[in-house]
Amino acid sequence: MKCPYCGFEESKVIDSRPTDEGERIRRRRECLKCAKRFTTYEVIETVPIVVIKKDKSRQTFDRNKLLNGLLRACEKRPVSIDTLERVVDEIETMLQNSLDREVPSSLIGTYAMEKLKNIDEVAYVRFASVYRQFKDINTFMDELNKLVKSR
Ligand SMILES: [Zn+2]
Repeated sequence: MKCPYCGFEESKVIDSRPTDEGERIRRRRECLKCAKRFTTYEVIETVPIVVIKKDKSRQTFDRNKLLNGLLRACEKRPVSIDTLERVVDEIETMLQNSLDREVPSSLIGTYAMEKLKNIDEVAYVRFASVYRQFKDINTFMDELNKLVKSR
C-alpha cells in the first residue's frame, strides 16, 4: 500500500474497522517514512477455502466444524472457548494466506495439533488420536512418549 504523500511502500495500520455495510475494511495507516496518515479501504476476500477429505470428496471449509472438534478435545480441560476461537482464527488466516484454494483436511488437522500442543497436552493427544487415526497402539504410545520427552 503506497503512501499517497511520498510513495513509500511500507506503512503500519493504526486502526482497522469494518465499514457500515460490513463488506469492506477501513484502515487508518501511517507511513513508516514520512509518518503522514491515510485511509485505505480493503475488500474482504470471500473466496471459499475448499477442504479435500480423505476420500477425495470436497467440502467448503467450515470453521464451526473445526471449533467443535477442538471443543470436544478440550472437554473438561482448563481451556477457554476464547482460546479455541483464536486458534480457529489463526488457522483460517493461515489457510486464507496460502495460495492454494484447496487444502487437504489432514493439513488443517496438523495445524490444529501444532496449536493444541502448546495449549493443553491432554487435548492435544485426544485431538491427535481422532485426526491422525493412529494405526495402532504403538504409534499412539510413540506420540505420547515424544510429548513426555519434550517437556
Ligand atoms: Zn509517506
